[in-house]
Amino acid sequence: MAIKQKTKSLSATDNKFASTFYQLQVLSNKQEIQADIPVFAQRIAEEGGYTEGILPSPVEIFQINIGKLCNQTCAHCHVDAGPDKKTENMDRATLEKCLEIITKYNIPSVDITGGAPEMNAHFRWFVESCSAMGKHIMVRCNLTIIRANKKYHDLPQFFKDNNVHVISSLPYFTKSRTDSQRGDGVFNDSIEALQELNKVGYGIEGSGLLLDLVFNPSGAFLPGNQEELEAEFKRQLDRRFNIQFNTLFAITNLPVSRFLDYLIESENYVTYMEELSNAYNPSTVAGLMCRNTLSISWDGYIYDCDFNQMLDLKSAVKTPHINEINMEELMSRKIITNQHCYGCTAGAGSSCGGEIA
Ligand code: SF4
Ligand code: SF4
Repeated sequence: MAIKQKTKSLSATDNKFASTFYQLQVLSNKQEIQADIPVFAQRIAEEGGYTEGILPSPVEIFQINIGKLCNQTCAHCHVDAGPDKKTENMDRATLEKCLEIITKYNIPSVDITGGAPEMNAHFRWFVESCSAMGKHIMVRCNLTIIRANKKYHDLPQFFKDNNVHVISSLPYFTKSRTDSQRGDGVFNDSIEALQELNKVGYGIEGSGLLLDLVFNPSGAFLPGNQEELEAEFKRQLDRRFNIQFNTLFAITNLPVSRFLDYLIESENYVTYMEELSNAYNPSTVAGLMCRNTLSISWDGYIYDCDFNQMLDLKSAVKTPHINEINMEELMSRKIITNQHCYGCTAGAGSSCGGEIA
């Protein structure tokens, strides 16, 4: 079924939050709406001893945002992805350079995200190339792409053939909550896609084919306990639809892009930032994903994480681009932080792999 889009991308509607400069001004209290919370860098120095800031550890995950083209336009999207994003997509030469770096530095995991990464014309070639090198390949699949068009119907088998670890968003196990965040029709297509993935073995005990789900709250609040959510999702999806999966990652919405716009529009920005700050947990800092990940944008720039990428905060090195990558310099950089980082350190912490602490 065709998805009825929830919204349009910020850039398609000339929304001021399409500007990363504006977003950073809001986060830095340089606009009218101000959240009176401590500066993140000072907080981690005072309550955690990170006086030097956050420093990187060896790169274990090469995360590639292969493009912003997506068949959905979810309300909370921090990428501002959508069907209108036809130009901001990685080309073959940039992907070849990525392969060269993954090989040269023997990076074990490749995390492919988007947009809907499967819509990039070079996606399958790239996955096959990483698979041939024996890499752990993660694909952030929005599920509905599998049902969007005949040409994507074989994706479950393609993932299986290349031993891809599938990680998929499912806001909830009910239609109303899922569709209100991601668009009418998303829930039914997601359920069908999960059943197709199960059919080839994904999420089935003993198959070795990993299918993880990502939960993020539908409003301005922190996710609940990950273990309890996982147990509830497992029970409900099995009972209602006979669906199996491996692990559920509970992820906090960071105040970036469309979610930042939503916070301001709904007048929840100040209370949400206070909630994140009040829940600051120093024990999460050591496990932040920016420490062992490099995040690459569709045009080859290097960032400390996907959120910094969406705020255009490039890694603090002389030439933060894959064509002039200097791994030694990257390993001695300081990770760039701002107030959005409170989203990663609140409560049990949050990363692309769910809770941290
Ligand atoms: S599916 Fe993912 S990338 Fe696409 S609009 Fe939704 S949140 Fe953004
Ligand atoms: S947003 Fe999170 S992952 Fe990114 S730099 Fe800040 S703390 Fe690290």
